[in-house]
Amino acid sequence: MKKIGLFPGSFDPFTKGHEAIIKKSIPLFDEIIIGIGINSTKKYMFDTDKRIEHIRSLFSGQKTIRVEQFEKLTVRFCQDVGANFIIRGLRNSKDFEYEKSIAHMNFELSEIDTVFLLTEQKYAAISSSIVREIHANNGPIDSFVTNPNLLV
Ligand code: ADP
Repeated sequence: MKKIGLFPGSFDPFTKGHEAIIKKSIPLFDEIIIGIGINSTKKYMFDTDKRIEHIRSLFSGQKTIRVEQFEKLTVRFCQDVGANFIIRGLRNSKDFEYEKSIAHMNFELSEIDTVFLLTEQKYAAISSSIVREIHANNGPIDSFVTNPNLLV
């Protein structure tokens, strides 16, 4: 059976923490889909097309990775693209508690398992929301995001 993993998230923006989770996932999966989940009631700081282009550019040499957007239940999107695993990154026990409930519910809905990968210590403090806060105040975000120039 082909192992196809979906890494879903808002990725507003895609940080070095997200990037490291994908790099760790490459040897584990035959294919990886990075899925930008769009919630029509949510406002994003970075334009969706720019977020997609930014992530694509980071993995342009990787034949097994593709980037797509979706606007539906994560498990439904998994079924659309044939993903049999969901990939999520963990920074701390708070992430774990939150992710655990979602993973249980997703399994209940679809029997799709979630694979958790622990972040590297050096990225454990990075969150997209703090990066947005810095960017909103005209601070530099290049310590947290690779090639941030592609986002603006
Ligand atoms: P969501 O809105 O779905 O939480 P995010 O874009 O914030 O989307 O995060 C997507 C995934 O990446 C989640 O599994 C989250 O825990 C993980 N993640 C976020 N920041 C980091 C980081 N610094 N290191 C590793 N994983 C991270």
